[in-house]
Amino acid sequence: MSTTSQHQSPLETLKMTTPLISALAIEKSYVKGQHKVPVLYGAGLTAQRGEFISVVGQSGSGKSTLLHVMGLLDSPDVGEVLLEGKRIDNLQQSARDQLRNHVFGFIFQFYHLLPELTLLENVMTPLMIRHSFFSYWSKRKEIRQQAMDILQQVGLEHRIKHRPSELSGGEMQRGAIARALIARPEILLADEPTGNLDSSTGGEIMETLTQLNEDNQLTIVMVTHDEAVAQRAHRIVRLAEGRIATVAHEEAA
Ligand code: ADP
Ligand code: MG
Repeated sequence: MSTTSQHQSPLETLKMTTPLISALAIEKSYVKGQHKVPVLYGAGLTAQRGEFISVVGQSGSGKSTLLHVMGLLDSPDVGEVLLEGKRIDNLQQSARDQLRNHVFGFIFQFYHLLPELTLLENVMTPLMIRHSFFSYWSKRKEIRQQAMDILQQVGLEHRIKHRPSELSGGEMQRGAIARALIARPEILLADEPTGNLDSSTGGEIMETLTQLNEDNQLTIVMVTHDEAVAQRAHRIVRLAEGRIATVAHEEAA
């Protein structure tokens, strides 16, 4: 089939290239006591570079499980995860750890900031862990500046010395976004990022995510049970009975 690129929207052009990330025919069960509880049975999800996708579905439908498999936080029992067409879920642990830390950024419903660290220290943490002590020490000023720049980008430059307990929910989530971004991920995986926020604060977080997607071409896969939040993405996929049930295409905002 031949198509010309002249009349295609940027999103349509994106769809013709190799997907950035794919989870294909994923099966996953958890063992509870004597029982094996199947969660995913043949779920598939593919994102092109620059796409913003929402995954919706009832509580317990396996949304987080699928996101964790996609981001190498968990392994599928059956199926494959591909990064730019190359399988990554079956690599050695050290290669998987490298990819997880360099390619993916994660944000969660409850932020998971470290309570004893300031916001700035929280944001610096991924790079502190990445470098050896000596390499970190020689680059500490640069890393600090990177963290400051990202905190400014998410509007938190006036909160850098605060600890998480001194921040609002929205500020904690923006801090968590900054921490996810400092490692310059290609794909942001967001699990219910507005799940613990009121709708107005949740709207601000969605504004930040939309901006990152549009300005930095950051690929985002976001899980949510909130239909209004889901509508902010380019595309909505619905997970039901362990599979992707329907796909709704939305006009890009
Ligand atoms: P969702 O994010 O859509 O609410 P999850 O992926 O968290 O769904 O969970 C899907 C199902 O798998 C649920 O029934 C949940 O109880 C079960 N589950 C999730 N994680 C684990 C685990 N680590 N051990 C056992 N069961 C789990
Ligand atoms: Mg979940």
